[in-house]
Amino acid sequence: MSDQKSNFYSGLQQNLDQLREQGLYKPERVLASRQGAEVVSDDGRTLINMCANNYLGLSGQEWVAQASIDATNKYGYGLSSVRFICGTQTVHKQLEQAISQFLGTEDTILYAAAFDANGGVFEPLFDENDAIISDALNHASIIDGIRLCKAARFRYAHNDMADLEKQLQAAADKRHKIIVTDGVFSMDGTIAQLDKIVALAEQYGALVMIDECHASGFMGKTGRGTHEHHNVVGKIDIITGTLGKALGGAMGGFTSGRKEVIEMLRQKSRPYLFSNTLAPSIAGASLTVLERLSSSTELRDRLHENTAYFRKEIERIGFTIKPGTHPVVPVMLFDAPVAQKFAARMYELGVLLSGFFYPVVPMGQARVRVQLSAAHTREQLETVLRAFEQAGRELGLLKN
Ligand SMILES: *Cc1c(COP(=O)(O)O)cnc(C)c1O
Repeated sequence: MSDQKSNFYSGLQQNLDQLREQGLYKPERVLASRQGAEVVSDDGRTLINMCANNYLGLSGQEWVAQASIDATNKYGYGLSSVRFICGTQTVHKQLEQAISQFLGTEDTILYAAAFDANGGVFEPLFDENDAIISDALNHASIIDGIRLCKAARFRYAHNDMADLEKQLQAAADKRHKIIVTDGVFSMDGTIAQLDKIVALAEQYGALVMIDECHASGFMGKTGRGTHEHHNVVGKIDIITGTLGKALGGAMGGFTSGRKEVIEMLRQKSRPYLFSNTLAPSIAGASLTVLERLSSSTELRDRLHENTAYFRKEIERIGFTIKPGTHPVVPVMLFDAPVAQKFAARMYELGVLLSGFFYPVVPMGQARVRVQLSAAHTREQLETVLRAFEQAGRELGLLKN
């Protein structure tokens, strides 16, 4: 090997070693089972899973898997084409229509992932005459999408409406302005203040875009999302979201909004034009999921019952959580090594959890993040709470 090449590889190895030393290395956890409230890891352990985005419990469900098999049988395995050449089937159009109906929008465009939806939404719609005003903690895919666009960038302090107003004033001379926020922020379960954001947008003539990856399917009284939760359905200009979390858990994303917006994205959005169509199995299963969620709020209701129960009981045991109502429950342990030790002990006790520490969350804010699911039974949650109590007592973490 040439010196230059071997320097490249040894440099990579050094950087990888450094990540390990800093505790920032992300190993993959290998499951030998379906996704679900209970999973089996590749070492044969059965674990209660508290760290999936499987909010409605659909990822491993038989009827969802069956819907994907039915769609495969009808439409085949794949299209070997982007959408506009020969990769659009009736099932894709039906799903786009169903998403629009579910969200209360005019039209929807599908992507292979929400990462692509966010990556491809700004550049076709905004240029150097315009301004994008973005929450400081927005998802990486929004940040990347904004980078690909020539619009002026304004950032407001996370969830800070006074700072948002300041940024709207700073952007006053721009032609079009759009405020962009995650509907729900996944680290803290913080729900964006969409009522206030919409009011500010109206005052300053700005558009509003929300990323609903941690909201579509279960936020709001019929699960339509954060806009329903805050009573601003019909007042959001652009909604992006994923099919890979609550809405079935496979993969796929979408952008939804006014028909002019979606039509322009179909003409110009690069991840749509230059990447393969969503597999028919996923489109068909997602359609079946949306039909089910439109006809009953049972899963959404069970998720919120589980969330309320867990939030109440975990505090009663003596843990500190970030207050809120979202199924993301940050259990605060503050100290990074403690959070690591705690997650490892919970694993031994049969509970799968993820620990987060700096730089993923601010210094001194280390935590384990619990994510509730409609699939968790009361017995499973009781088992998890007992494990929390035991590990908390062993590590001296309980307030009571
Ligand atoms: C998960 C997530 C995404 C990416 O979704 P994919 O469909 O997995 O690409 C985008 N935005 C937010 C806020 C997310 O949580």
